[in-house]
Amino acid sequence: MLPARIIPLLIAFSLANASENPPSAAADSTVAMPEIEIRRAIPVVKAPLNAAPALTANKVVYNRCEVPAPVVALTFDDGPNPDHTPRLLDMLKARNIKATFFMVGRCVVTWPHIVKRIADEGHEVANHSWSHPMLTALSTTGLDSQMKRTHDAIVKACGKVPAHSRPPYGAIRANQSKHLYDTYGYSTIIWDVDPLDWKNRKAQAVKDRILAQTKSGSIILCHDIHGTTVDAMPATLDELKARGYQFATVSQLIDLEKESAQETVVVAPVMAAPGAGEVKAEVKEVKAEVKPAVKEVKAEPAAAPKAVSVP
Ligand SMILES: [Zn+2]
Repeated sequence: MLPARIIPLLIAFSLANASENPPSAAADSTVAMPEIEIRRAIPVVKAPLNAAPALTANKVVYNRCEVPAPVVALTFDDGPNPDHTPRLLDMLKARNIKATFFMVGRCVVTWPHIVKRIADEGHEVANHSWSHPMLTALSTTGLDSQMKRTHDAIVKACGKVPAHSRPPYGAIRANQSKHLYDTYGYSTIIWDVDPLDWKNRKAQAVKDRILAQTKSGSIILCHDIHGTTVDAMPATLDELKARGYQFATVSQLIDLEKESAQETVVVAPVMAAPGAGEVKAEVKEVKAEVKPAVKEVKAEPAAAPKAVSVP
């Protein structure tokens, strides 16, 4: 069970959208990418729990989140897919689980009605490039083309503005992540749980790997273009629930981390009023911002999170 103080926080979290990648050849098992090596090369900006809010706000890349409760984010890449995504949405709806869908632009424009359904049912929509290339091989112009076309396609399909992107194969350079953050407000979302569902098309193996790797704050990577992955979901989700996990969108998980980090900020000693003649240490409680229950459609990409100001 979640600590009592976390439950209202979760309830207050905004609803999100979702999306993923097309059944591109590159996303299939026919291309065995050296994913693990690439992932390890990605710089992860980790803020200590008592970091000043400004430092936390500048975090750009997430492999997982530091949260004080058994909450995880389920993510689905490479869709939407006309055969498997609707089936998955039925399973999530039946369990009142919200997920995040990192979608490929060319699939978004092919099946916009599925994107709309994803958003309408409260999932988070996110950007997974237009055609699933290796972003590290692209110029800034090429990177912008991949992301902007997809961003616009998602907004057009469902009216929701993506707040995050995930690079195909988890491969992205640090300067590219910063560019996406500065340009679109995107956090770069990687993962810490990988069932290798693109490689081993067996539902049981997908379930076993997810259950073995998941912990509080995990970001779970799945692909809703594979029937075996969707087949694995009912038993996987039910077992995670039985183990006490709650599900959040990626935005909600990040907000949980920020709320936890900002809960208490110790301010450096300050001079007391003139004449007092002594230095006092001052400790202030800083409340995390409470998010609106429903995220409104934004006209522009999400801005960088505001730092909490301490007088
Ligand atoms: Zn992908």
